[in-house]
Amino acid sequence: AYNRVLEIHKQHLSPVLTAYFSEPLLLHQGHMEWLFDYEGNRYLDFFSGIVTVSVGHCHPKVNAVAQKQLGRLWHTSAVFFHPPIHEYAEKLSALLPEPLKVIFLMNSGSEANDLAMLMARAHSNNTDIISFRGAYHGCSPYTLGLTNVGFHKMELPSGMGCQSTMCPDVFCGPWGGSHCRDSPVQTIRKCSCAPDCCQAKDQYIEQFKDTLSTSVAKSIAGFFAEPIQGVNGVVQYPKGFLKEAFELVRERGGVCIADEVQTGFGRLGSHFWGFQTHGVLPDIVTMAKGIGNGFPMAAVVTTPEIAKSLAKRLLHFNTFGGNPMACAIGSSVLEVIKEENLQENSQEVGTYMLLKFAKLRDEFEIVGDVRGKGLMIGIEMVKDKTSRQPLPREEINQIHQDCKRMGLLIGRGGTFSQTFRIAPSMCINKPEVDFAVEVFRSALIQHKQ
Ligand code: PMP
Repeated sequence: AYNRVLEIHKQHLSPVLTAYFSEPLLLHQGHMEWLFDYEGNRYLDFFSGIVTVSVGHCHPKVNAVAQKQLGRLWHTSAVFFHPPIHEYAEKLSALLPEPLKVIFLMNSGSEANDLAMLMARAHSNNTDIISFRGAYHGCSPYTLGLTNVGFHKMELPSGMGCQSTMCPDVFCGPWGGSHCRDSPVQTIRKCSCAPDCCQAKDQYIEQFKDTLSTSVAKSIAGFFAEPIQGVNGVVQYPKGFLKEAFELVRERGGVCIADEVQTGFGRLGSHFWGFQTHGVLPDIVTMAKGIGNGFPMAAVVTTPEIAKSLAKRLLHFNTFGGNPMACAIGSSVLEVIKEENLQENSQEVGTYMLLKFAKLRDEFEIVGDVRGKGLMIGIEMVKDKTSRQPLPREEINQIHQDCKRMGLLIGRGGTFSQTFRIAPSMCINKPEVDFAVEVFRSALIQHKQ
């Protein structure tokens, strides 16, 4: 049966859909933080889909709500009203600070960011949209213009013929050049205390100012930032950087957009939203992935003023956005996060996990950096700590594969795929973290031999 699946995949599914492993996993069932294959092997899902399964696979409460809604009403187009959408809008808006109170419901992160771009343009009357180097904001033709992780860069023109989207080379992350597409050696970073480093902050701010004064950003409509870059390998900004960047954008009439697709819903532990960890208040917040625990669903939240600017200029319509199934599921996800104290759990277990993985940095020369916040952790693998060159891809593949063989699934990111990403469901506990660290450690020992 396994070979047959591989054959069908090869014949009938797009070749862009490449599997993570040379022997792809054929999954059968999921229960909370665990996944099961057809042979009954179980895997600790330490990447929760792709940072999507926020409260656990097939969470019983979410499943019960979904089943009930399925038997009642599962689709009406967005031109009809139904109770789940209003219940959800009320619940979600209560979690955002004033004046972020108007919600647009969508189906994916890319769609949400596309809409945020339109809003920024409609509101500012400007055209240029910028994002950071290393950013990931989606794969639609519009958002591809903002996505700038090396391996996602397109060779085709993107931005729907719009020349204004661009990605300045502002931010290269804590390991400097090892994140940067063109230069795999350290180029920018001057000191080693990355996220809290004032020197790095000032340097990046100067570059950001330069970018804002160039022709590509002279008429700035919007600025997108992930509170922590996810796909780029859990890259954090120097403290205070985002706040100053927001101010500079606003001085020039632009709108600031926080892309919370990975960082929202309590994953970072200390706060419900990633932007709160930077002490900033965005004009638009986009969210997806964990919002529906894996059910296709996304949202854009903005101020009444920006929502009006869009409505004046454009009739925006989305057939599936805000459908009863998604809204019922979204509401139950919010309830579970609250009832099971999952944000607090992210904080407690995340802090524990960061410390445990960080110890491996002292033990292994190839563990270059361990960083992150809450349940979003990156482990950057290097050839050695002096050169900071990324560990070759075949070696990364082997470690990744060995973890899977021992029952642990983790993610990857960064331009050279050199950073392992850890982002389990928020229901994870400390013994499971111990298991994950032990498995990862064994894989590193095997690599050494
Ligand atoms: N923004 C961020 C920060 C993401 O990580 C992703 C997906 N990796 C997206 C947007 C796009 O979301 P989707 O794949 O649902 O379109």
